[in-house]
Amino acid sequence: MRRPLIAGNWKMNNNCAESVELVSQLKAMLADSKEIDIVVAPPFTALGSVATVLKGSPIGMAAQNVYWEESGAFTGEISTAMLKDAGCRYVIIGHSERRQYFSETDETVNKRLKAALKASLIPIVCIGETLAEREAEKTLAVIEQQLKGGLKGLSLEEMETVIIAYEPVWAIGTGKTATPDQAQEVHRFIRDIIARIFSKEIADDTRILYGGSVKPDNVDQLMVQLDIDGALVGGASLKADAFARIVNYKS
Ligand code: PEP
Repeated sequence: MRRPLIAGNWKMNNNCAESVELVSQLKAMLADSKEIDIVVAPPFTALGSVATVLKGSPIGMAAQNVYWEESGAFTGEISTAMLKDAGCRYVIIGHSERRQYFSETDETVNKRLKAALKASLIPIVCIGETLAEREAEKTLAVIEQQLKGGLKGLSLEEMETVIIAYEPVWAIGTGKTATPDQAQEVHRFIRDIIARIFSKEIADDTRILYGGSVKPDNVDQLMVQLDIDGALVGGASLKADAFARIVNYKS
């Protein structure tokens, strides 16, 4: 049985005070959500403050990125140990904005993923096609390539903790959502590829989140799909009411 997970990616928004305010509201609003995993991903500078508010709460905290080296002369980077020290249990890896603006590749995704697993951080690995790739009918080929590259060399045991987020790039921050059928088709395909690379058992247990303009008014139709196990939410995670409604989706 796959436990649903809703994660809010705050991106480069919210200073410490704003982060504390938002997470305090969420903590109060979501105190009774027991059947679901809830995660927030604040910017690095607010991780410590958010962790303090979340003490004793079931809401987990993710970082938005991590570097693969353990320490040393890597100015501007952040290690797995630093994230754990700040209170993170999860880390988002390979978000399309990292791929688009910061030259992230399947190879660097793979390095970050291996470092995260080694440190027992739960990785949320993002994949997804651009509009041009979808229009050229390359969606499934791109997804397969990103999965094979990103997950390369992982053991069955390591794969057991990996969470995948399918985020069509054309749907992120654009207000355009994949239709529930479009999303389900790709989620099913992702599960089939994981079964081929690892095993059917692992594939059946892997949580696959959908991301791309998830909002209170479309979450119910998405979450009803067989292979959609949760959501990675950007814009709508910045408002406590909207995020709480998404977490409390109706199935
Ligand atoms: C995201 O940042 O992963 C995302 C899906 O953003 P939005 O919900 O704003 O499209």
